[in-house]
Amino acid sequence: MKEEKSFVKEITPQAEDFSRWYIDVIRKAELMDYTPVRGCIVFKPDGYELWERIQAGLDRRFKETGHRNAYFPMLIPESFFQKEKEHVEGFNPELPWVTEAGGEKLEERLALRPTSETIIGHMYAQWIQSYRDLPVLINQWANVFRWEKRTLPFLRTSEFLWQEGHTAHATEEEAREETMRILELYRDFVETEMAIPLYTGQKTPSEKFAGAVDTYSIEAMMKDGKALQAGTSHYLGQNFAKGFEIKFLDRDNQLKYVHTTSWGVSTRLIGALIMVHGDDRGLALPPRLAPIQVIMIPVGPPKFRDKVMARFDPLFDALKAAGVRVKSDLREETPGWKFNEWEMRGVPIRLELGPRDVDSNQCVLARRDTGEKITVSLDEAVERVQALLEEIQRNMYEKAKAFRDANSHLDVDTLEKLKAHIARCEETGELTGFILAGWCGSAACEAKVKEQTKFTSRNIPFDPPERKHTCIHCGGEAKHTVWFARAY
Ligand code: AMP
Repeated sequence: MKEEKSFVKEITPQAEDFSRWYIDVIRKAELMDYTPVRGCIVFKPDGYELWERIQAGLDRRFKETGHRNAYFPMLIPESFFQKEKEHVEGFNPELPWVTEAGGEKLEERLALRPTSETIIGHMYAQWIQSYRDLPVLINQWANVFRWEKRTLPFLRTSEFLWQEGHTAHATEEEAREETMRILELYRDFVETEMAIPLYTGQKTPSEKFAGAVDTYSIEAMMKDGKALQAGTSHYLGQNFAKGFEIKFLDRDNQLKYVHTTSWGVSTRLIGALIMVHGDDRGLALPPRLAPIQVIMIPVGPPKFRDKVMARFDPLFDALKAAGVRVKSDLREETPGWKFNEWEMRGVPIRLELGPRDVDSNQCVLARRDTGEKITVSLDEAVERVQALLEEIQRNMYEKAKAFRDANSHLDVDTLEKLKAHIARCEETGELTGFILAGWCGSAACEAKVKEQTKFTSRNIPFDPPERKHTCIHCGGEAKHTVWFARAY
């Protein structure tokens, strides 16, 4: 018990200081480390493994929908950025530059890519000649650089890992279909594999990607009530096609500009996973994403170890053979220490087996999500584990959704109500969460809301729980119903 207390003490409780909790957890679980380069982190093996699982799930979906992977260079000539006006304005302040190489000053500076529309646009212009070359459906797994002012491990770093899809189509309709197909693919992956409930919708013009015609996003709520943009899908229209002269000869013998899309999710998703499911004991990983789904720990006095291992090893093998990602912890630590350790690392199920369990042909399954312990027969252990993994996955999603819904306010829809809501939250410690409000469509109204409350528009949901009819700021007629929240 003494051991357990000091162990948990190393993690600041969420209610005391959520930011410190986050940093404590990611460091204690050894997911990352800081480096001497500002905003650039190391993804340590346990953190990188989460990314690998995210990659695997997405990559499979991209390929199932006809996309192929390619790789483009990281260095982009400065002149490329000048070809799309909004793009250069949006990204210029964040670009790191290479100005010298081989001991000589370069004739043209090269940017470390913040995203690859420009270099890819340049290449597509050479690859695409006729309607027969379309669509082009390419994805790239890469690192990108954005010299961010504020950084936070995983959520916002100066160098991050991501995938960026870049597609070119003959018609607007096709390109728009692709934009929505990917948004739905992201939603499906993040909700079903990561157990993170999302609001999907369209970004307002002031929040859209620099150079896009329309940007769509998936937005999640973290456990401190703040929003996180978890992924974006952009319809780029012909903006980049015109900038880079990506033209094709259509069936009607007319030379036309293509319509392009781009879409990305990043290592920010690791941060979302931690902030949506973690608790005061540490990480909690949904089974489908967890690199280790079951941690097996032998318990009981050492003198019975052989007797226990005679059942332990075959069970381990049976779980592995059934496709369960299982690991055993045979280190010479006390079981209590190991329990805490694997709880902190977020493993969904702990399987305990001791001499008395062996006598009664049973083992104990402990759930990370509820703390509940269940005794099951060894004869049924594999099936029970598999069913329990599914149950935990479902429960984690439901729990996160219930939390999100409880902190999504439908009745805070004027600036006065929002200010009163914030004041009450400050007094009571309640979370500010998301609010659903009407918006007239004016950027000035949106900016005023942000200025006065730090609430920004998250997105215009396709399917809002209710329609709002008056603008949150000016009280005029609402063109849209919008989710607002304080965001990372
Ligand atoms: P964007 O190309 O700006 O639409 O970004 C695509 C996605 O990358 C966003 O939806 C975020 O999830 C993520 N992202 C953007 N900036 C960062 C950053 N500095 N660190 C980590 N992820 C980021």
